[in-house]
Amino acid sequence: MPIHPELLAIVRCPKCLGAVSERDTADGPGLVCEKCRLVYPVVNEIPNFLVEEARPLDGAPK
Ligand SMILES: [Zn+2]
Repeated sequence: MPIHPELLAIVRCPKCLGAVSERDTADGPGLVCEKCRLVYPVVNEIPNFLVEEARPLDGAPK
């Protein structure tokens, strides 16, 4: 289920306060912060912005 575009426009990574982008991951939908290389899980269309529960973004770090 897609995140509401207006919500997506205002949400920020709690760690670096940068913009996040929606992405489907192996574990389901998530909001990705490219800067922190973290994926915040989205449960029932509600983004979970707890840094402790964020997953590392797949792929080699740059
Ligand atoms: Zn970040």
